[in-house]
This record gives sequence, C-alpha cells and structure tokens, in this order.
Amino acid sequence: MKFEPARRPLTGETLESLSASLAERGEKPFRAGQILDWVYKKRARSWEDMTNLPKALRAWLEGEFTLMPATLVLNRHSADVTDKLLLELEDRSLIETVIIRAPQEGVGLDHSRKTICISTQVGCAMGCVFCASGLAGLKRDMSAGEIVAQLLQVCYAEDERTPRARSELASFDNIVVMGMGEPLANYDALIRALTIVNSEWGLGFGARRITVSTSGLVPKILKLAEEPMGFRLAISLHGATDLVRSQIMPVNKAYPLAKLLPAVKAFTERHGRMVTLEFILIADVNDTPDQARRLRDIALDLHAHVNLIPYNTVEGLPWMRPEASRQVAFAEILDRSGVSVTLRREKGHDIAAACGQLRLKTEREREEPAAAK
Ligand code: SAH
Ligand code: SF4
Repeated sequence: MKFEPARRPLTGETLESLSASLAERGEKPFRAGQILDWVYKKRARSWEDMTNLPKALRAWLEGEFTLMPATLVLNRHSADVTDKLLLELEDRSLIETVIIRAPQEGVGLDHSRKTICISTQVGCAMGCVFCASGLAGLKRDMSAGEIVAQLLQVCYAEDERTPRARSELASFDNIVVMGMGEPLANYDALIRALTIVNSEWGLGFGARRITVSTSGLVPKILKLAEEPMGFRLAISLHGATDLVRSQIMPVNKAYPLAKLLPAVKAFTERHGRMVTLEFILIADVNDTPDQARRLRDIALDLHAHVNLIPYNTVEGLPWMRPEASRQVAFAEILDRSGVSVTLRREKGHDIAAACGQLRLKTEREREEPAAAK
C-alpha cells in the first residue's frame, strides 16, 4: 500500500529530479543545487530561511513540496547511550529512528562509535514470530523522502544536544537500515533514499558505512550486489538449519538456506567485504550447541562475521533470552574455530532490538486510550 501525500517531500528529490521539475518551470539550472544545499548543508527549517531564492520560487516550492515529512513526537533519551526518536509521518503513522552512542560490547569496537538506525516501512509483512515490528503486519512502505527525513531529524536532535556546534552526519560512524520494516521489500524507495544519503549534493555519507539488513529476500540481495554504491549487507539468519529457521521466520519457506547462502556468497564475492550474519539467541529455540556448530560452519564457508544478539523480550510474546552462561558457551563454539564473532551483552544496547518497540507501545496507547498510563 502506498500513501500519496498532496505535496511531495523535498527530501525524496534527487538533484536530477529536482532540476527537471525546475526546468519545466523555466528556472535556472543552478537553483536545484542551491535548494538542496539549504536542506542538507544549511539545515533550513522553513522556506523563509532560503534567503537567496526569489520569493516567487519559494512560494512555488511551498505549494509543491513538504520540507519535512516527519515530525518529532518524542525523543526518549536513555541515561546510557541511546536516543530513540519517535516520528510521525503525514498520515499519522509512527516510525522510530534510533541513535546509539555507546559501544556495542564485544570485539574490536571503539568506544566512541556512533550509529544511526533507520526504518524503511511502517510495520512489516515478513511475520518473523519474535519481532515487535511485524506484530501488526505491514501498514505501508515509507517513501524515499520519509526515509531520508529520519536522518535530518537526527541532525536536528544532535544540534539541540550540542547547541554550539553544528553536528555533522559525517560524525556518525555508521547508518544501519535495521529499524522497522524489511528494507529489500521496499527496494526502489530504499535505493533512492540511500542515493540521496550518499550523494555529495545530499547528506554525503559514505556507502561503505551504510549497512542494509535483510531477513533474506534472495532476488533482492542479488540485485543489491549489483548496485554501484557498494553498501554493506547484514543477514538476519537466526536459525542455522531450515528446521529451526522456518519455525521463526516464514521467509525461509520461500528462500531456504540452500538459496540464501549462495546469494550471500555471491554478494561477498562481488564486494570483497565481509557480510554480517545476525543471530538472535532465543532460549530453547536456536541456542543449542548443535545450532552453534552449524552456524560456525556457515560463517566459515561464507567468511562472514557473526553478531550474536541476546533476544530482547517483547511484551505479549513468549520468547526469552538464554542465560548468560549459555550465550557465552554458544559464542565460544564459534570463537574457538576462528569465526569473527561478537556477543552483545548489555540489555537495551543492541541496535537490532532498539527499533520497533517504542512505536508499538505508542500505537497501543492510541488504540486503547483508557488503558494507557
Ligand atoms: N527487516 C530487516 C531489518 C529490520 S530488523 C531484518 O529482519 O533484517 C533488524 C534486526 O532486529 C533483525 O536482525 C531482527 O531479527 C532483529 N530483531 C527483531 N526483534 C528483535 C528482538 N526482540 N530482539 C533482538 N533482535 C530483534
Ligand atoms: Fe520484519 Fe525484520 Fe522484524 Fe522480520 S525481523 S518481522 S523482517 S522487521
């Protein structure tokens, strides 16, 4: 399903598409660059801010485009390391964008690491049984402009935190597409958004610092491998055999491991970079030594990095994280064989689980205002 706003979000325009719209109006070609400069470099928050544009042009732009298609509803700053931005889109849909400032505990990560986690859909259709984002199914795809708007909102939030220094997106180490939604199920909007994020005339953020996470849509993984920009890839594996994976991820029926793993290999070979295998540890589901050994074999074969994420409990779902000692035992089976593995230990610190839950709570409160506290 698509949402067709009355005005297009300016954050969804490329230099090319904006130039074309302006040319149709008989405007000078350099205006498109000027306008995008106001949006991304000077962070104009209103049309009036764009002082070097003629008034008539500003008035036309205002009639044609929304400057910011996502409004900040809540910034939940947690004492430790995260800022969760709850954003409202023009149709009142809620999405989450998360800033993580602390290290993910584990191997080889430096302590000043800053990551932004963005969403690509409102809800998710993939139906993974453990996930808060997919509980109510897919509401709709986000547009490219809405995806990009999250990063501008992050810049605004950072500017507020440090009012003296204009924060630059480049000061973040990574952008991970691991928020709500299956990014590869909204492929065209994703690529358009990441083009805007990556381009010099846009947010200028390096493609090699952008990771796209997928539950395993094989044809789209192969398509992503051909994109010239060269994004990083993370696979939500969560099961090292079809039996286990199919129990928790319906996508495994369409794209079982025999199809998924060769696609991941093809991606790695194309890019010469390690792919990350995400593996949530869920007690009594996928945390056995047998799963660990099979995961080890897969990782060695793919020359992939493994990210073990103790499951974050979701209200209303029965799944639990395993005991710490069991998590460590699992990780050691991989580590002993030379697999590059990270075990995240601190609750609430993991990027992957950070998104989706705040939005779920707010949606529920909207639906049942009497029950809301
Ligand atoms: N749809 C994409 C990206 C968004 S989900 C994907 O599935 O990869 C991002 C990551 O969060 C995935 O690895 C997902 O499996 C994980 N995740 C979802 N719910 C979680 C939870 N409750 N605890 C820990 N990780 C979770
Ligand atoms: Fe969708 Fe990813 Fe959640 Fe699965 S884990 S339901 S693909 S957001």
